[in-house]
Amino acid sequence: MTDTDTSDTNDEERERVSVPERIEFPRLLDFYELQTEERTKIHEFYDNLNNGQLTTTQCRDCDEIHFPPRIVCPECTSDDLEYVDLPHEGELFAFSEVRGGLPLGLREHDVPYVVAVIDLGPVKLSGRVDDASYSDLEIGDSVALKIVEIDGPTDEERVFYRFEPADGDS
Ligand SMILES: [Zn+2]
Repeated sequence: MTDTDTSDTNDEERERVSVPERIEFPRLLDFYELQTEERTKIHEFYDNLNNGQLTTTQCRDCDEIHFPPRIVCPECTSDDLEYVDLPHEGELFAFSEVRGGLPLGLREHDVPYVVAVIDLGPVKLSGRVDDASYSDLEIGDSVALKIVEIDGPTDEERVFYRFEPADGDS
């Protein structure tokens, strides 16, 4: 406000502005990939996961098994790949705890939670470990696949993989 317009402005009707009751997060802040055939060339991975099976690609030319799934083999550049089943149990190879700094748009705010590198045998992959706290876990513990369904922000039905302590683990 400048010195010259102090008195008049109060008598004028003020313009009203508003903020939306609900803010749609930009697509980039959606933590998970879109999973349909039109959206990703690894949709078969998600189709299999939705049907309860963790899979990845294996190269028919050099036999390399990849994770995450590929559309071209990073070893030999062949695109002759097939989906193969992965074990649903593995061992904790390394783990840590997330205590804060969740990305914007991540709908759950249930920190702390455990993230780990899991050795499934054919591949190692990173994932979240549910139903265990950092102090409950040790390197080498058995963990089992857990499939979760993702709510929003798109209408697509989506799933993702996590892990949890395996039954009977000591
Ligand atoms: Zn290959």
